[in-house]
Amino acid sequence: MSQSQSVHPSWNKDTHPQAVIAWALAKYDTDLIMTSGFNLNGVVLIDMAVNAGYRGKVLFVDTGYHFRETLETRDALTEHFPELEFLSLSAHRPDDQMYQKDPNKCCELRKVIPLQEKLNELAPKALLSARSHDQSDTRKDLRFIELAEPQSKINPLIYWDRERLERYTKERNLPINPLYWDGFLSIGCGPCTRAVRPGEHSRAGRWAGTGKTECGLWTSSGI
Ligand code: SF4
Repeated sequence: MSQSQSVHPSWNKDTHPQAVIAWALAKYDTDLIMTSGFNLNGVVLIDMAVNAGYRGKVLFVDTGYHFRETLETRDALTEHFPELEFLSLSAHRPDDQMYQKDPNKCCELRKVIPLQEKLNELAPKALLSARSHDQSDTRKDLRFIELAEPQSKINPLIYWDRERLERYTKERNLPINPLYWDGFLSIGCGPCTRAVRPGEHSRAGRWAGTGKTECGLWTSSGI
């Protein structure tokens, strides 16, 4: 039996993400926290979390390499959701060319460590994640819940595909990063993101051609 099934036996692909968020809020209360890069999935998750009663922080790591449109989307979301506290974390920026020489080290310094430091300070027991199965092969087996120390991960959107997410954002009139509509289906730092080509996974434009698929925030060595 999977971790999700053992926690909540009736959950399946038809379970609404907001029900999963509501469960997490009831269980973790103020020990639940969100991080976001303000991609399509992330915006949907933020809206659903607010609808479910979340009133906490949204952590965003400003690596210094984000697209202007991403920062503008953050600002639009801050205005759209006054009930939330959006926190932009400053990255460690020791070498401006590190993304070319050692992207794993660059992600560690500019993303993973700043977030881990903030999480060490806040010490939440669980994190809401916007990851979904159709984003990449590395995410296709995700469960609703990953029990772990020091933080469990709650993944309410695993069964929602792009079409459904897009429909939701339109119905809810949510601010979306305009680069998304230009084919940037997953948007990270400018030097490491390209538009996705027809037939590719939504994260295929991240670190394209390098073999790297994750920044490390959500891997076992990360949070
Ligand atoms: S995505 Fe690229 S620029 Fe951004 S932190 Fe990672 S390696 Fe550095």
